Amino acid sequence: MMPARAAGAADAGADKDTKLVTAVAGAAAADPAASGVGNGAAKRDPRLAIPDDVLPGDVRRDRLGRMMDACRVLLEEIGEDVTRDGIAKTPLRMAKALLECTAGYAQDPREILESALFDVDAGGGMVVVKDIAFHSMCEHHVLPFAGKAHIAYLPGDRVVGLSKLARATDAIAKRLQVQERLTRQIAEAVRDAVGADDVAVITTAEHMCMSMRGASKPGAATTSTVFLGRFATDSALQTQLLMQLK
Ligand SMILES: [Zn+2]
Repeated sequence: MMPARAAGAADAGADKDTKLVTAVAGAAAADPAASGVGNGAAKRDPRLAIPDDVLPGDVRRDRLGRMMDACRVLLEEIGEDVTRDGIAKTPLRMAKALLECTAGYAQDPREILESALFDVDAGGGMVVVKDIAFHSMCEHHVLPFAGKAHIAYLPGDRVVGLSKLARATDAIAKRLQVQERLTRQIAEAVRDAVGADDVAVITTAEHMCMSMRGASKPGAATTSTVFLGRFATDSALQTQLLMQLK
């Protein structure tokens, strides 16, 4: 029973595929730029083709095409006319923006930090870098949250270049995140890369999923704190840090 049904389905599928291949071939002849884009290529508006110069980085055309197909479905389902002029290229823009905002998946924050370590005399004072701006997206709603990170550590015999702290923060933020994990990942990356046991990271952020929907409370700031090593146990050190952040 099952094998017979499966075979029937496979036949129907093969038949459909044959027609689709023919249709795509036809579309490709008419508009070479339209080929290679998702399965909907055959009936796609030529304005929706992916121009050669917009593939971000090493993103493959079929991956971007699949993302565009998904974005188009989302736009249609919220009630948009995806053929009108202002919207026609939005699936492409949406897909590219999403890739940009999640570029951190392809980056290793530890590697970034390790690329700029400098030897210092042991026993240096606390290093504090304030107000590192970041933009991320919550993993629950895929809506932005943005704010600032403050990073402090007690160096052993190495410090890390300041701009690398910002770049590592970016690599961690540009993924789907929750603020608590983002904060912890920054602290652990600094600990591991710099070899400093005592690290503190404080982040404050406004979450669009709170401001635009749900509780709809614009301006509400969420703070997350991760203290590693002596920062977790030494209240004098915590006080010293909070004074520096004022
Ligand atoms: Zn959210």
